[in-house]
Amino acid sequence: MRTAVITGASRGIGSKAAETLSKAGYRVIINYLHSQSKAKALADSLNEAYPFKADVSKPDDVKAMFDYVRDRFAGTDLLVNNAGVSHIGVFQLMSDIEIDRVLDINLKGAVLCSKYALPDMIKKHSGLIINVASMWGEVGASCEAVYSASKAGIIGFTKALAKEVGMSGIRVNCVSPGVIDTDMNKDLDSYTLSYLTHEIPLKRIGSPSEVSSVIRFLASEDASYLNGITIGINGGMVIQ
Ligand code: NAP
Repeated sequence: MRTAVITGASRGIGSKAAETLSKAGYRVIINYLHSQSKAKALADSLNEAYPFKADVSKPDDVKAMFDYVRDRFAGTDLLVNNAGVSHIGVFQLMSDIEIDRVLDINLKGAVLCSKYALPDMIKKHSGLIINVASMWGEVGASCEAVYSASKAGIIGFTKALAKEVGMSGIRVNCVSPGVIDTDMNKDLDSYTLSYLTHEIPLKRIGSPSEVSSVIRFLASEDASYLNGITIGINGGMVIQ
């Protein structure tokens, strides 16, 4: 059985991705930070699923998680770098701590997890990394400058790493969601939500399952010749 590590899998897109990948036959490691009861409940509801607490922005936590996967399950076959936080506000009013938090979790977290997952994959000459960016990383969002930068970094990281590790039998790809119905958007006021919906050609926001089905596709043999790409899942809001 192949083993998938999904970061930020206690809620939202990551939780649905863990469920979808479990149903596709993966053993899933449900990474979480604060939402322990949700991660445990999800693990209990799935076959071969294990919660693991780790802050993806902390190298020691990340190393411990991939050591655990190596010791217990002979290494990581699929890594989904999904954990993320948003920050909406005027750029110049962001504190240095707020800036570090967004960059450390969204970008450095994916970099660290990839670093510690790759040795297993290189050894097996096989592996998959799927990064979760955002359409704002493609086109930028006012009042989400640092979030947009972190996600643009994810897209660049995907392209560069795909070129570097492809020769080791490892594919690195990216999904780039638009507005998705998760806790991340629960504080958006009704005016903003209806404005965003109006801007989406499909006239509705997306669901976590509409992102996780693309993650499942990228993790499958059907995507065996895709490497270094970013797939937008945004109802047509961003078409490039
Ligand atoms: P969400 O519902 O707020 O869930 C975020 C997840 O990230 C939670 O499971 C949380 O775990 C985890 N997390 C946060 N900080 C972490 C850390 N330091 N270490 C480990 N896990 C951490 O968000 P979502 O909407 O599902 O977003 C998932 C990903 O999709 C993010 O990268 C986000 O930027 C991206 N995305 C979302 C949207 C959208 O509209 N929702 C659009 C584009 C891209 P705990 O609760 O356990 O702390």
